[in-house]
Amino acid sequence: MAIISSNIGDNDFSLKKKELRLIDSKIIPEEKRNNNLNLARPLTLQEFIGQEQLKSSIRIAIDASIYRKEPLEHILLYGQPGLGKTTLAFLIAHEMNTKCRIATAPAIERPRDIVGLLLGLKEGEVLFIDEIHRLNKLTEELLYSAMEDFRLDLTVGANRGARCRTINLPRFTLIGATTKLASISPPLRDRFGISQKVEFYTIDELKQIIVNFAKLINLNLDDEASHNLSKISRGTPRIALRLLRRVRDYAQVVNKTNNISKNLVKKALNSFQIDEKGLDSLDRKYLSFLNLTNIPIGLDSIAAGLGDDSSTLEFVVEPYLIQIGFLIRTPKGRLLTDLGKQYIDSLK
Ligand code: ADP
Repeated sequence: MAIISSNIGDNDFSLKKKELRLIDSKIIPEEKRNNNLNLARPLTLQEFIGQEQLKSSIRIAIDASIYRKEPLEHILLYGQPGLGKTTLAFLIAHEMNTKCRIATAPAIERPRDIVGLLLGLKEGEVLFIDEIHRLNKLTEELLYSAMEDFRLDLTVGANRGARCRTINLPRFTLIGATTKLASISPPLRDRFGISQKVEFYTIDELKQIIVNFAKLINLNLDDEASHNLSKISRGTPRIALRLLRRVRDYAQVVNKTNNISKNLVKKALNSFQIDEKGLDSLDRKYLSFLNLTNIPIGLDSIAAGLGDDSSTLEFVVEPYLIQIGFLIRTPKGRLLTDLGKQYIDSLK
């Protein structure tokens, strides 16, 4: 049973809006979605490119819950940043014809934050919690009965004035997203009926995402241009879309055009110090640092040496360097491969 501090009145479960991003998926009209780059998210499972196995499992779960007129099971999505977990939460809510409310775990600091969030839900709604592995223990414990029995067990007050309260909740669907599956405690993990990995995308899938987005923002991208961009997008839609926006800026400012060729992509990327392999200055700094020695180095030492955040290195920089064969992770630390060494030497 979770304990709520005594200075919370019975009705004081309201949320500070600044702390939690609450977004109603139904208030995004089509034309607004087209005008705003951040809202360029696919709205249906059919529009969502790739992740075929995940999509078919979720499709079945959605159809089954609609058939039984029951809320969808709780879903845990895990995978690297930028692969579409938030987008999936939105479109699942859209497919269920309901609203998606969004919060990030670090913003849910006090038990009353999660209580307020849960009390604000209506029957069948989706609550999306990003970075769910970062929930604190008390919040997590409150979620157990909320997820399992749609009930909150609270102790309000302290010492002799303490009293127990059970509050019934509307039946809702929790979608949790994480980059660190192993950091989620087993009791929380077990309460998700569906657990799905979101995989990196193939070059063809990324190309499709790039082409769709280019259409949305009125860019004419030739085939080689979209192919080259997708090749260096690290299997990640967010990176693909970011690169496309940078190329668009360059094309419009320097060449005053919306027509993007392979050569224009190359020039634009050069101007942002991104080379043909898709490596940027942080990747090169990382590789050069490792090249200083022949022994494996731990992630924290690299982060300290570069003055960078270790999770950026772990989740953004390293996966791609490993994928292109420049880096290996050993039990003793990170090590440059011969290919990685050759690349760094070629820059000298
Ligand atoms: P995550 O929550 O995993 O960090 P997001 O859902 O925020 O990732 O996705 C990052 C960006 O990539 C968004 O702009 C989203 O629209 C786009 N995106 C991700 N996956 C796809 C996809 N399969 N098809 C089209 N766009 C996608």
